[in-house]
Amino acid sequence: MHPCIEMGDVILVISVENFIKSLLSSANAVFASKDMLTELDAAIGDGDHGINLDRGFKTVKEKIEGKSYTAFSELLQDVAKALLFSVGGASGPLYGQFFLKMGMKLGSKPEATLEEFANAVAAGVGGVKSIGKGERFDKTMLDVLIPFSEVLNACIVEKVPHAECLKRSLKAAREGRDETINLIARKGRASYLGKRSLGHMDPGAASSFLILEAMCQALLSVETDR
Ligand code: ADP
Ligand code: MG
Repeated sequence: MHPCIEMGDVILVISVENFIKSLLSSANAVFASKDMLTELDAAIGDGDHGINLDRGFKTVKEKIEGKSYTAFSELLQDVAKALLFSVGGASGPLYGQFFLKMGMKLGSKPEATLEEFANAVAAGVGGVKSIGKGERFDKTMLDVLIPFSEVLNACIVEKVPHAECLKRSLKAAREGRDETINLIARKGRASYLGKRSLGHMDPGAASSFLILEAMCQALLSVETDR
C-alpha cells in the first residue's frame, strides 16, 4: 500500500522504514536540546535529564541505524531496551515502557495506518502511567503524552485529515508542556520541592514534546515528499 493523495490530503501509512527515520529525527532533536533539558532539570531536579537522554538516544541510534527491521515490535523492542539500559534515572524506564508498549500494540506488521499508530501511542501512554503511577497534571512527561494521544485519537474518530491530526495533536502537546510551568510537581524528584517547583517547565514534558514533534515532522515530510 502506498500513501495517496485524496481530496487534497495526505493519507499517512507508516512503514517500519519510515518510523526508523522518525526515531532518528527524534534522536537528533534530543542531541540538539541536551543542554536545555539539563538546565530545566537543574532547576527542579538533579540536572541530568539532557545528559541521560543524550546517552539513551545515542545508544538507540547505534542500535537501529543500518540494521534492517521487518516488524515494528522488533524495532521498538530494541529502542526500548536501549533506553532502559542506558538512560539511568526515572526517564529511562518510562520512555522504555512507552516504546515497548507501542511496539507490542503494532506487532509484527511492516506498516501501520495512522489509526493503528494512534492506538499504539495510547498503549505507550498507558505503559508510562502504569509503571510511574502518574496522571495528567502531575507535572511530568504525561502532561504532554496524554493530550497528544487524546487529541490524536479524537481526530481519527472525527475523520480529520491526517496531516491536520498530527498538527492538532502537537499543538495540544505543546500546550500541555507549557502548562507544566504552572503546576506543582506530584511525581518524580521535582515533587520533593512542593510549591517551589512552580514557575519551571518540567524537563520530561520538554523532552517528550521534542521527541513527538520531530517524529511527526519526519512522518509528514516522508509522506509529502514522495
Ligand atoms: P531523574 O529524575 O531520576 O533524575 P530524569 O531527570 O532523566 O530522571 O527524568 C526526569 C523526568 O522524568 C521528569 O521531568 C518527569 O517528566 C519524568 N518523571 C519522573 N517521575 C515520573 C512518573 N512517576 N511518571 C511520569 N513521568 C515521570
Ligand atoms: Mg534528573
